[in-house]
Amino acid sequence: MMLGDFEITALLDGTHPFPVHEVMTRNMPGIAGAKPSSGKLADVKPGEADALLAAVDLKAPVEGSINAFLINTGNRLILIDSGAGSLYGACCGNLIRNLEASGYKPEQIDEIYLTHLHADHVGGVAPNGKMAFPNATVRASKVDVDYWLSKTNENAAPALLHAMFEGAMASLKPYIDAGRLKPFDNGAELSAGIRAIPAPGHTPGHSFYEVVSRGQKLVLWGDIVHVGPIQFPDPAVTVAYDSDGALAETQREAIFADAAQNGYWVGAAHVAFPGLGHVVAKGTEFTWIGANYTTVLAAPAK
Ligand SMILES: [Zn+2]
Repeated sequence: MMLGDFEITALLDGTHPFPVHEVMTRNMPGIAGAKPSSGKLADVKPGEADALLAAVDLKAPVEGSINAFLINTGNRLILIDSGAGSLYGACCGNLIRNLEASGYKPEQIDEIYLTHLHADHVGGVAPNGKMAFPNATVRASKVDVDYWLSKTNENAAPALLHAMFEGAMASLKPYIDAGRLKPFDNGAELSAGIRAIPAPGHTPGHSFYEVVSRGQKLVLWGDIVHVGPIQFPDPAVTVAYDSDGALAETQREAIFADAAQNGYWVGAAHVAFPGLGHVVAKGTEFTWIGANYTTVLAAPAK
């Protein structure tokens, strides 16, 4: 689609069965002043996930998309997230093939902005440890870079997340060696019309990218949603991969409300491909309105 002067291309890296019952969680009220603890959604609210999925004719495990987005500003090519590369196995790692099918070559990419350093976002920069974008500079929040590239943090983190540390370290290594990993400070404008917005919770340095051209706005929001049919109607549902579940919930509720109120475009990493659409509020619940697919590349109406 066109967003003002910018061409936005959604790129599918692959889909994989998302283990809803195992990894979806929910914050539980804690003792006053203490961090809330979280429990498995299936224990805290038995039946909720299955009922919400059944309402849209799905059942667990749900195939989850891994989306990335290419922004052609007219003079720069900027990739937002990079898929899983070789880190998720045969399901995924199709980003480059789909980039080429869209008419671009990996060597043309100028910059890659990562929403966070989880495997399915960073892995595609270096499948099998080899730099896939030989001319690109990789940008990510300094907070996430400092967190995920630390062995000390890996040792202190839950076992579930250890592979994420290893994946981030291996994927970024060739870029670090080449001097082409450039962490940014929170809130930085990275390119004309593209700004990083700190949205910590899912990871410590998780970032949104706000893209604006000719008054039209798109917010690429990384991992605010993992299973749309569950988390739009109930934004309190979290995932076991959240570094801080309570903060992740707060970010989700805030950005859903903001997106619904302001009506801008949203690009989501794990909403069913292409993951472009709008959010509307329905009382205290939210609904995702997917973009109407068209083969005519024209400015969106909104
Ligand atoms: Zn993630």
